[in-house]
Amino acid sequence: MFYNLKTFLRSEFAGRLSDEEIQDLKYLTKIFPFKASRYVLEELIDWENRDTDPIFRLVFPRREMLKEHQWRLLKSAKTLEEEREAVRQIRWELNPHPDGQKDNIPVVNGHELGGLQYKYRETVLFFPAQGQTCHSHCTYCFRWAQFVRLDEHKFRSNNADELYEFLKHHKEVTDVLLTGGDPLWMSNRHLFPYIDLLLKPELAHVQNIRIGSKALSFYPQRFLGKEGDELLQKLESAVEAGKSVALMAHFTHYREMETEKVQEAVRRIRNAGVVIRTQSPIVKGINDNAEVWRRMWREQVRMGMVPYYMFIARDTGAHHYFSVPLYKAYQVFTEAYSTVSGLSKTVRGPSMSAWPGKVLISGVLDVNGERKFVLKFIQCRDPRLINKPFTARFDPKATWFDELEIDSPMREEIDSLYEQYGKSPSYNPVPIQASILAE
Ligand code: SF4
Repeated sequence: MFYNLKTFLRSEFAGRLSDEEIQDLKYLTKIFPFKASRYVLEELIDWENRDTDPIFRLVFPRREMLKEHQWRLLKSAKTLEEEREAVRQIRWELNPHPDGQKDNIPVVNGHELGGLQYKYRETVLFFPAQGQTCHSHCTYCFRWAQFVRLDEHKFRSNNADELYEFLKHHKEVTDVLLTGGDPLWMSNRHLFPYIDLLLKPELAHVQNIRIGSKALSFYPQRFLGKEGDELLQKLESAVEAGKSVALMAHFTHYREMETEKVQEAVRRIRNAGVVIRTQSPIVKGINDNAEVWRRMWREQVRMGMVPYYMFIARDTGAHHYFSVPLYKAYQVFTEAYSTVSGLSKTVRGPSMSAWPGKVLISGVLDVNGERKFVLKFIQCRDPRLINKPFTARFDPKATWFDELEIDSPMREEIDSLYEQYGKSPSYNPVPIQASILAE
């Protein structure tokens, strides 16, 4: 069972919140999408300690997620019309489409393929329409705009032919990521045709099928029982057909990996030959300390999963509340990374999925007496720039790539990338200084 605000308020769980918390929740869910699975409410949340409980914070929006003026605006609405306008205004303030994701929509013969994103040469993202929700919603979700009524734009498609035609003509694509929301929200009946499509002989160049999902955390039952059996048989058949199948599992905290259900689900997925790669943003108040990551990576490796990414939370939603400065994220990552064995060191991070590409924070250095961030692209719209270290002026408060002053010559490279897309760079220009440290 999955609860929205209405069904949650009628459930036995609502009695665990104070009147004030319920009142706040009613307001907050006008802005932020809310959904919680019974599994999360029953088996993961520590209700007694909910104020600090990471899972409660993961699913229940908190009063601090809105700024003071946004609260005032919301509460001052007298009519339904005024409230609608306040909600619309606040949602736009929350930057619903960060980092130019709309720029990634491919256009074929003048027709936008709105359910696809194609940013990096080898990888296509596909957003199946029936999978544009999740089994619960994360408070820090970077795709929250997919779940609310805001503008006409949603990444979604129920046209498998579009995906097929696109892939047929793009032999350079080796990876397809089914994403959302959560594609595993879809029933098997809706999901399987997409898997079948990727197994067609004309798409032999697609080697890797990835499924981005938080079902292991929010609803591990998806991999159990009869429906789970069918799902895993289907994925196993894709592996036997020669594809690599990866579940890109979003785990925010080690607590999500402790139940018998998730442990069993992981065993079954691995038995099907599916590789589980794990990833999460670093989020203030939920997982912004090294011990959480250390335990999480160690446990993931013990369970047979592969730690993959620590992300920086994107500049969207209640970013002011959740964001962790880049420097702190780097410290947390380094502290955790230095206390795990080599098997956990498959993880990369902290990484920002910024407009030009995925930017890794590799370190902090003194260069000619000035403190610098050392960065590199691990993916980029321009593949020439990948894996070339570059620097930016150290800023202990910066929380996102756009806030950094990138040094030359990478700065000019990025400028020209923006120009190619008819955009102006949104980061701060700085005086020229030598900076690509290695070719
Ligand atoms: S699982 Fe991902 S898409 Fe779903 S609510 Fe969480 S962050 Fe958003």
